[in-house]
Amino acid sequence: QAREKLRNIAIIAHVDHGKTTLVDKLLQQSGTFREHEAVQERAMDSNDLERERGITILAKNTAINYKDYLINIVDTPGHADFGGEVERIMKMVDGVLLVVDAFEGCMPQTKFVLRKALESNQTPIVVVNKIDRPNARPQEVVDEVLDLFIELGANDDQLEFPVVYASALMGTSSLDPEKQDENMEALYETIVSNIPSPTEDVEQPLQFLVTLLDYNEYLGRIAVGRVNRGIIKQGQTVAVMTREGGTKQARIEKLFGFVGLKRVEIEEAGAGDIIAIAGIREINIGETIADPQKPEALPVLKIDEPTLQMTFLVNNSPFAGREGKWVTSRKLRERLYKELETDVALRVDETDSPDAFIVSGRGELHLGILIENMRREGFELQVSKPEVIIKEIDGSKKEPYERLLIDTPEESMGAVMESLGTRKAEMLNMINHGNGQVRLEFRIPARGLIGYRTQFLTLTRGYGIMNNAFDSYGPLAGTGVGGRHQGVLVASENGTSTFYGMMGVEDRGIQFLEPGTEIYEGMIVGEHTRENDIIVNICKVKQLNNIRSAGKDDTVTLKSPRLFSLEQALEYLNDDEYCEITPKSIRLRKKIL
Ligand code: GDP
Repeated sequence: QAREKLRNIAIIAHVDHGKTTLVDKLLQQSGTFREHEAVQERAMDSNDLERERGITILAKNTAINYKDYLINIVDTPGHADFGGEVERIMKMVDGVLLVVDAFEGCMPQTKFVLRKALESNQTPIVVVNKIDRPNARPQEVVDEVLDLFIELGANDDQLEFPVVYASALMGTSSLDPEKQDENMEALYETIVSNIPSPTEDVEQPLQFLVTLLDYNEYLGRIAVGRVNRGIIKQGQTVAVMTREGGTKQARIEKLFGFVGLKRVEIEEAGAGDIIAIAGIREINIGETIADPQKPEALPVLKIDEPTLQMTFLVNNSPFAGREGKWVTSRKLRERLYKELETDVALRVDETDSPDAFIVSGRGELHLGILIENMRREGFELQVSKPEVIIKEIDGSKKEPYERLLIDTPEESMGAVMESLGTRKAEMLNMINHGNGQVRLEFRIPARGLIGYRTQFLTLTRGYGIMNNAFDSYGPLAGTGVGGRHQGVLVASENGTSTFYGMMGVEDRGIQFLEPGTEIYEGMIVGEHTRENDIIVNICKVKQLNNIRSAGKDDTVTLKSPRLFSLEQALEYLNDDEYCEITPKSIRLRKKIL
């Protein structure tokens, strides 16, 4: 592939704004699929859980042939626990597609991912999608996007972003909001004419930066990234420059490029190509694969430190083993170690007991997704209350602090600041954009963030966006942090479900649920405040999907066999309790001493 015919882009969007449909259509219309080869697997988001939670967990590669161009598209997660991954992907591409719903306009994840893109000096192509919707308001949405660019500090070049109007559903696009062309031509053309081709030199000594990891039983660990310089060949000996600064030799067993949704074996690749490499054991994110004659490392990529840990334990309750397919410590261990192959932000430590493992990660969502995936795969296990990871530095105990960036509507600002005050956050900065939006910056003990997301979304009625990253270790904040926890607690018995509402400060019933959460049949939902630590007022809930409120003694019928936010359940664990996870349910149980 000629370099000038190559385009590397990332695709970013708020959940449901249509990036999967868009990539499917781009694939179909480009003829990258042969005719008999239907799009069976949806292009992105293949993991059920990702779809339900509205996030993409693993970035996936798609490659599209358009005319004589090759367009590599990298899917990007939209959630703050995966901020490090988004940053890495931004460094791997030369352009970004920002997909925005023509009716909904800019949403929290739009902002989160756009900020990352702008910080990486990208000028996204804005795709106003779902233009076919009867209530579409494309012009207003473009204005909103422009405001958002300004608010996020875009430079003059970035403010010149190109706009394409599209209906991924119909497979149409246009530069004119009033009139759609028959196909995706306008979008393809905007991509190839606005996004630069890679400019790196194939003549220089090889450099390849490992940006993402994949895993396959037969091939082992697979390193995905971009060739930054030079040429790489199958069978070649290379230098691997480790994160610790060491250099070791390795052989490139297999090299892959991407065609459509598939990985295909290739003989060689050159500067600018996005490829996958198999056969280098223990290869890790951020390491450079280089010319052994002239090994030069690229700047090491940042990996977010784990700040939260939980114990994963074989289920030893008297009720164990009834529902799970995988219940032994051997299976548990195997599964956790497999996860380590692709997830750099995760850590697994053995304990004195072969039945227990300490699993550390970036946040509740990060660990929650792992648990939920295991549950769906048939695992039965116990998990403990999540705890922040304390370190001993210079003889004294320190705990992790996070940098927290919040964007909130002005009217919610007071409530947000108050809630963070009880969680021992220290405000560092405040910018009032004058358009009803305020940005606040805090330093907060990581433990203060446990369970905060639910409360935050409630306080901002879903309009706030929070983004946190590890800051530093600092003095122990003490156990008073956490303030009033709100959320839901789940247990399960039979078809009728009961909602335990907490009278605490005010009885707001089930409206504490994160917007869009669903409850599945057989769950008992409860809520309490940590401050008072008592459960009051049992009520039954009435309606099921997208519950916004429910009152005392209301009754609900449950329909959707889906689980909602496990991390919300986890935050309700007391020290003397554990959470029993099985394919059928999640229960809180008292520890048996
Ligand atoms: P993702 O979460 O960004 O990957 O979004 P999806 O591609 O899964 O789309 C979410 C929903 O929006 C699906 O029900 C799609 O059928 C629908 N959708 C996607 N694109 C369009 C569009 O252009 N017009 C309309 N009306 N619906 C669309």
